[in-house]
Amino acid sequence: MNSKYLGIIGGGQLGMFTCIAAKKRGLKTLVFSDSSEFSAKRFCDEYITGDFNDLEKVDLFAKKADFFTIETENIPLKTLKLIENEKKIYPTSNIVRICQNRLQEKKFINSIKGIKTTDYYELNNFKEFEEKAESLNFRCILKSKESGYDGKGQHRINRENLKEFKNIYFNDYILEKFVYFEKEISVIIVRGNNQIINYPPVENVHKKSILRESFYPAEISKEIASHSVELAKIIAKEINLNGVLAVEMFVLKDSEVIINELAPRPHNSGHWSMDACNESQYDNLIKVICDENLEMPIISNKCKMINLIGDEYNKISELKEKYKCYDYFKKEVRNLRKMGHYIILE
Ligand code: AMP
Repeated sequence: MNSKYLGIIGGGQLGMFTCIAAKKRGLKTLVFSDSSEFSAKRFCDEYITGDFNDLEKVDLFAKKADFFTIETENIPLKTLKLIENEKKIYPTSNIVRICQNRLQEKKFINSIKGIKTTDYYELNNFKEFEEKAESLNFRCILKSKESGYDGKGQHRINRENLKEFKNIYFNDYILEKFVYFEKEISVIIVRGNNQIINYPPVENVHKKSILRESFYPAEISKEIASHSVELAKIIAKEINLNGVLAVEMFVLKDSEVIINELAPRPHNSGHWSMDACNESQYDNLIKVICDENLEMPIISNKCKMINLIGDEYNKISELKEKYKCYDYFKKEVRNLRKMGHYIILE
């Protein structure tokens, strides 16, 4: 039995599932959470709570575990670098640096030959914003460069609400061209030990910018499926991935596939892999960390994962009678908060 310690930054549901996978492989877990009540609390061996900026606590954390991973990209770079100076972290701080800032991420993606995102614009002031929005015919979304998730920091712009943004600090935002996509899909890549594997594309359905459900197989052609995997693999190699990378994409009417965003960690759209695959995205992350051989996942079922958001959580006991349900053990039910998910296997 391996009793090395894996340090995980972030204690939400992704951290919780990482703890469970680590335990299966005989690792102990130490979670650094920025809140006192967190999903991973009952699944980790030890935890530290505090601000991710508290370098004294980070230093203690860095000393106590053997290797490290993350469950969110919203982590100060100095924190990641402090850890990286002492131990290995999956993914590296450079990968997180790119993915934690929309502008950097978009620049990176578009710098790769043959791969692109929707058009985007840097903004300096309200006048530029107004002119750009007009020229796009208000077909645009204003997005914060950092810390946005589940639709936070995103605003669909129209003639009526434009003025509400008069006093924001524009350097913190980019303006994205709105995409009238046919489908949203995502591909999860795992890379390590000189090997690269992927989960097949799943189709994602969002409402109010929050993921509602992911299902496998995605209803796309074989050509689009293999093209999307190819794109995701190229990105993983270009970013020098060590760990897991989720690549979210838009499929357009003419079958073109463009990239929406990247997450260098296990992803909500990969939860299904816990129930319909021999090895989940979390299992494979742990394999990378333990330097073990990776193998393409074997898929046993068609599968749909449905998130329980806000007070949908109240129906979890009823759903449990029919489906496999996952409770994130969050202290408080909040509007638009992911509280759990359930799985429908075919
Ligand atoms: P994001 O956090 O950027 O992934 O955005 C969350 C969701 O909002 C996406 O999965 C899409 O459903 C929607 N969305 C984001 N950006 C765009 C865009 N440029 N055009 C159309 N829909 C978008």
